[in-house]
Amino acid sequence: MENNPGRDLRLLLDRLYPATPNTDFFVNKADSDFMEDGLLADLHHQSFLNYLVRRLLTVSYGLLRKYPIDQFGENRYQREIYKYLKGFSRLKEKDILRLKVKIFYCIETSQSNKPTKLETNKIKKRCENRSYFCYICGQEMDYSGGSVESNAFSVDHIWPRHLGGLSSNVNFGGACRDCNNKIKEDYIDFADFHYEHIAFSKTPYDFLAEDRKSRIEIAIFSKTEFCCSICMKPAYIIGELFIGKKEPNDGWHYQNLMPYCKSHKPKE
Ligand SMILES: [Zn+2]
Ligand SMILES: [Zn+2]
Repeated sequence: MENNPGRDLRLLLDRLYPATPNTDFFVNKADSDFMEDGLLADLHHQSFLNYLVRRLLTVSYGLLRKYPIDQFGENRYQREIYKYLKGFSRLKEKDILRLKVKIFYCIETSQSNKPTKLETNKIKKRCENRSYFCYICGQEMDYSGGSVESNAFSVDHIWPRHLGGLSSNVNFGGACRDCNNKIKEDYIDFADFHYEHIAFSKTPYDFLAEDRKSRIEIAIFSKTEFCCSICMKPAYIIGELFIGKKEPNDGWHYQNLMPYCKSHKPKE
């Protein structure tokens, strides 16, 4: 199956900077101190990889503005990426060359077209025929063709286009408009940002149970699989996701939140 170039870039970075089991490393020490069984260290590592993807691509977009391909050509643009990596890293030559190729594919992909109206309609038909819910939050979507309702059907790039996500079926998900635009934006996944901030939004904790937006944000970013953490059924099949604590006696903090379907939602 075709891979998103952005994911390929992250895989390469993962090979260059694998997670280390070194117990002197502060993250591993904190992981052990807070009894996270490796989850905290993993979150930190994923987050770091996402950061590097963003950083390399942000710089490369800057270079693209300076050396547009239609004016300077592909080779010149690739050379500028190379020069940047050569000048601002101590990477080995072979790794610079590998990175340059991956970065270039991401930028090239991001310039590709969005789904056409025809493609969008095809995806919509498919989702509607199967009565799919929003793949992010599990709410019912409005398939009537409107575009202003918060739950209007829209096509989302699961891996953001801007960060090297393909405009093809493997990377399209049917999502309600709010989930697509206001909530997921161009985040890659749960490891992409400041966890507590995303998880709780600006909503005071007391309102957590009622505030839908807040719940969705948590559902999205708590673990990004968009499925119930018990039965593993995806939101687009099983419907709305709820957030509950993994460990009932622990607090409402990011690492202790999990998405659940209606039947597996823990009692409060
Ligand atoms: Zn949604
Ligand atoms: Zn479930």
